[in-house]
Amino acid sequence: MKTISIPALLRAIAIVVLVSCTQSSQQTSALQTRSESTQSIASYFSLARSKVEIYRSSFATTDPLFQELTSALDQMKHLEPPVTTEIIIDSTITDPVLVFKIDGESPRAGPIDGVKGLDRWLALQISDADFQQFFNDARKSAFQTNNSLAKFNATPQLQDGKIKINDWSRLNATPVKRVIASDSELELVDLLKEARSQHLKVSIAGQRHSQGGHTFYKDALVLDMTRFHKIIETNWDKKTIRVQSGITWDAIQRHIQPRGLSVKVMQAYPLFTVGGSLSVNVHESDLRYGPIIETVNSLRLLTADGNILTVSRTENSELFGLAIGGYGLFGVILDVELSLTDDTLLQRTVQYVDYRQFASQFAKLLADGKTVAAYGRPSTAPDGAAPLLYAGDGFFRGVSLVSYNEVPKQGVTASTFAIQEEGFLGLRKLMYDLSRKYDWAKGVRWLIQAKFGDTITGDTDISRNNMMRADIRITDYVSVSDTDALQEYFIPVDRLTNFMDALRAILVEYKVSVLSCGLRYVPENNEAFLSYSRTNVFGVVFAFNQRTSEEGVAQAKEWTRKIVDAAIENGGTYYLPYAGYPTRAQSRRAYPKMDEFFKKKLQHDPDLILMNQFYENYHLSTGN
Ligand SMILES: Cc1cc2nc3c(=O)[nH]c(=O)nc-3n(C[C@H](O)[C@H](O)[C@H](O)COP(=O)(O)OP(=O)(O)OC[C@H]3O[C@@H](n4cnc5c(N)ncnc54)[C@H](O)[C@@H]3O)c2cc1C
Repeated sequence: MKTISIPALLRAIAIVVLVSCTQSSQQTSALQTRSESTQSIASYFSLARSKVEIYRSSFATTDPLFQELTSALDQMKHLEPPVTTEIIIDSTITDPVLVFKIDGESPRAGPIDGVKGLDRWLALQISDADFQQFFNDARKSAFQTNNSLAKFNATPQLQDGKIKINDWSRLNATPVKRVIASDSELELVDLLKEARSQHLKVSIAGQRHSQGGHTFYKDALVLDMTRFHKIIETNWDKKTIRVQSGITWDAIQRHIQPRGLSVKVMQAYPLFTVGGSLSVNVHESDLRYGPIIETVNSLRLLTADGNILTVSRTENSELFGLAIGGYGLFGVILDVELSLTDDTLLQRTVQYVDYRQFASQFAKLLADGKTVAAYGRPSTAPDGAAPLLYAGDGFFRGVSLVSYNEVPKQGVTASTFAIQEEGFLGLRKLMYDLSRKYDWAKGVRWLIQAKFGDTITGDTDISRNNMMRADIRITDYVSVSDTDALQEYFIPVDRLTNFMDALRAILVEYKVSVLSCGLRYVPENNEAFLSYSRTNVFGVVFAFNQRTSEEGVAQAKEWTRKIVDAAIENGGTYYLPYAGYPTRAQSRRAYPKMDEFFKKKLQHDPDLILMNQFYENYHLSTGN
């Protein structure tokens, strides 16, 4: 492997900085711009190759090459303009790009097409194979430094001088005009006005973990909200918090935990933005709350015409149920007031149940007056992949039912309540990775789950805040040929067994590699226009691995439609943040108010300024 000395590296980087800082602000493409100068492009690529070489060697902090690079980059801080050392990788890519962050400016801040800001960053395309290697090394480093690669997801990629953006599924690469990350409300207002005057479409993105192109649209402007992330006000007595919409649950949890408070509803992972969570109306496993809309007091909405409205159950009330669960089509949620609850101490119990008894066992927990949170984890081990622990074991038959009671805090130290990362991450991730390909690994995971629930240590006591957060690094994965995705179906509680039978048969028929499954209860709530909990339902969520080829996608579409039919036949529906595979007819049967939803969209945004692939898929496309 080629090594590089510090002075040579510094020189090369300095050249690139110099070159990049003198670029005109009117150029149209970073790569084209650099090809104007043979010398600069040569140093650009030699630098880039050196970096890739070095980083490919290892990310271990004790690695001499890594240290050499780090110290070289450290010295660059003294250059004018100063250079930061962060290298950003987009793990949602299909055509990989590494982005070198320069001058403390996020590349996301640099508009792409009109090209103000391009002087501050560089992008380099590398081959799929190199990227795969690079990503694997980066992932190792993320483990060592306790960072999640998930934070890299918000970085768009540059291809052929155009920016392409993707989401968590990596199946929706789409060219867009510009990605704008702003922390200024005025800028956002101006941007919507500019879009209107220039007849441009605007889409809104949080952490882009929705999976059907919900956060972008071809040739549109993308508002990356992740820099709009301030905590505006916390009222500790009233237990409320007002935050800007790009903030993550992680940041909120870390702010409120020391004062003994906890978010009422968020997803199973804390990295999502509040705006993205509201716009899909998320839910989780606390039995006392339904979807997140229940916990929202009010929000401020920047509408497509550039006005800012306060929206609540009493003010501009129609927009309350349209913006929440509205997939970014009714306005940019600027900030939100959320109602909080106490961070209590919970005690975990794990019991095994046969899936046919799950609903009745769960009803007992709901009625006992002590259980505050509960969920089920059905076995995803194919039949025969694990020794039978219980009579009813088997794929989607055995269920580990995990429940939590509140217990007194006496004798518990503050460290129990401090925000913690999950233990045995490396081991669990290894098993998760292996289970993408090997049934025996699915079997081992089920044996652990059935005996211990979600903890390998068997610990029973956990704070509410920590119970709510799992580590998404377990799911970090990049492969060119396959990808992971999620689906969720909401089934009336008395139809769960029927649906599970149908679901199992379809997944087995299509040999779908299911990586995990959860059963969560969502009590009836009809406040959101597109409510998925129109009666008391169980959410049946599963993660799976699929091929990225056209054929792989076509097959996933085929079996998804069969499952959607099964959900509808059982009086249920499906979750909308995921791939838009269901047909138009299915979407109307699953969401009887969907046509009305799109009519309201036209009333509130007649010029269709706010636009995304969700709209296109469910409203514009006439096919399938
Ligand atoms: C691994 C994984 C686990 C998940 N677990 C759960 C779970 O436990 N429970 C659950 O309910 N869901 C879950 N989801 C789904 C997840 O909640 C949604 O995809 C959610 O939208 C992700 O938040 P985000 O910040 O990535 O939003 P994005 O995907 O960036 O955006 C989602 C939608 O919100 C809109 N939007 C974003 N910000 C704003 C804003 N400020 N104003 C207006 N519109 C906006 C976007 O336009 C888009 O339509 C999971 C998804 C993944 C990938």
